[in-house]
Amino acid sequence: MKGPAPFDELASALEKAKATTSKKEKVATLAEYLKGLAPEEAQVAARLATGKTSERGSKDEAQVGYSTILDSIKEVTGASSKEVSAAYLRHGDLGEVAEELLSSKKAQTLFAEPLTLADVEVASSKLRSSKGSGATARRRAVVKSLILRATPVEGKYLVKALTGEMRTGLVTGLLEEAISQAFSAPREEVARAHMVLGDIGLLAKTVAEGKVGEVRIEPFRPVNFMLAEPMASASEIAEHFEKEVYAEYKYDGVRAQVHRRGGETRVYSRRLEDITTSFPEVVKALSGVKQDFILDGEIVPFAEGRPLPFQLLQRRLRRMEGFAEAAAKAPVNFFAFDILLRGRKELVGMALSERRRQLREILAGAEVPMAGSMVVKSEAEIRSVFDESRALGYEGLVVKDPGSVYTMGKRGSGWVKLKEELDTLDVVIVAAEYGHGKRARVISDYTFAVRDGGELKTVGKAYSGLTDQEIGEMTAKLKKITLKDFGYRRSVTPEVVLEVAFDSIQKSGRHDSGYALRFPRIKRIRTDKSLEDIDTLKRVEEIFSSQKLKIEG
Ligand code: ATP
Repeated sequence: MKGPAPFDELASALEKAKATTSKKEKVATLAEYLKGLAPEEAQVAARLATGKTSERGSKDEAQVGYSTILDSIKEVTGASSKEVSAAYLRHGDLGEVAEELLSSKKAQTLFAEPLTLADVEVASSKLRSSKGSGATARRRAVVKSLILRATPVEGKYLVKALTGEMRTGLVTGLLEEAISQAFSAPREEVARAHMVLGDIGLLAKTVAEGKVGEVRIEPFRPVNFMLAEPMASASEIAEHFEKEVYAEYKYDGVRAQVHRRGGETRVYSRRLEDITTSFPEVVKALSGVKQDFILDGEIVPFAEGRPLPFQLLQRRLRRMEGFAEAAAKAPVNFFAFDILLRGRKELVGMALSERRRQLREILAGAEVPMAGSMVVKSEAEIRSVFDESRALGYEGLVVKDPGSVYTMGKRGSGWVKLKEELDTLDVVIVAAEYGHGKRARVISDYTFAVRDGGELKTVGKAYSGLTDQEIGEMTAKLKKITLKDFGYRRSVTPEVVLEVAFDSIQKSGRHDSGYALRFPRIKRIRTDKSLEDIDTLKRVEEIFSSQKLKIEG
């Protein structure tokens, strides 16, 4: 029997994968490494390799803030704050800071047992469960005990995994491929299983056990949602489909999957978190249905036949104090638009027209409305349902191909969306400043970025769109996740996602993306999205060229 898998081997594999720009080599390196692991070890390794320390959707995050890590590095290596800052400026990556400082560490821990994957998992689970008073000190002790035992390269990848910033270029798709290669499982089957399981760790374990073919959609294990491709106009949509399609209202709320098994109902968010307790009336509204199911739809603040502002949902989602009051102020409706499972039968592979028929049948006994929908074909028809949707207070349309299957986790061209603005982008805050005048005491100016491969590139700065209360909460949050405080300006850990609307995009030397959004305004804080969900520089370039065409046209 082999002994427990050393962490050192994962660190070396990641180091090797990072060093090459070839995707093929990255995949081969990881595959070679994963091959030698037992299923439980593959689960931990695959998660760590993608900068995750807990199951996707788990409410308990093991991720650790920069300050906890910095303090631990200082304590273990004896480096001063000045030395740490200098190293950070040199590398711009906390993992590399750990590596450098650990290499020059004076007192190497003698006789320390080498770290194993299992040790890191035990530590992660301690981090996940340490909450409440004294949690900061406990978390720091856990991180310190790990770093104390780490070699420089281990320290680098521990820190990267704990902060969720791997920067190895091993995106999820490549890791999926590595898992498929390592255990000789068909790539397609692995991809499908990943969508159903929703978690790279569970995927690695299942594939390693040789059970990839047995993965089924099941209640209480949420799957990744199907997404819609943005389009700029009704004419573009008419041209894209060139046939009769369903134009559904685009409701402005939170996307939700509702699962039922036996007598129990649970509600999951887009991040696959269990949000059942935030929406008791959704559970109640479906109590008349006597079969198991998984439904997809949107929870919308709604009263007297009209949608209410989306912001009203925030309190309910976070289940902050005053929940009952917030719930009374923001009653909700769940508008169902899809069904993924009925009884024990998977419906995702069936055409949307059939899924809708089944959805209608199952909802017959429930107080849950189906999303408003019309059959349309021409540009004029699409335009007219769009105007109707806007007049009713909705955001626009999601237009769907009746023949399309449900592609989990994909922005398929079977669903396209049409909104009012030129477009919106999901961006992450990377830096922030205090405002002026009555906002001089709150952090109200946010510099934001999009993704470009493994890097973040800034595209603009926004200071309008949030309520005073939201700005207050944002101020507290940004202080907590500050990386470096320059007085009136600060850089922050990139984790707060904003949806911004804008009038146009210009080329600009002001931001390192080379572009700047004109008149950006914050539409909302996207607590349902994380760093990996934000838009890319490629998308910015696409919008830039499409608007150019429009202006020239
Ligand atoms: P957005 O920011 O535009 O809501 P998104 O990135 O959250 O987009 P997309 O898949 O790109 O997600 O856009 C479709 C979104 O619209 C869904 O995630 C869902 O929350 C919402 N939506 C509202 N009504 C519908 C509907 N009838 N069918 C599908 N999605 C709908």
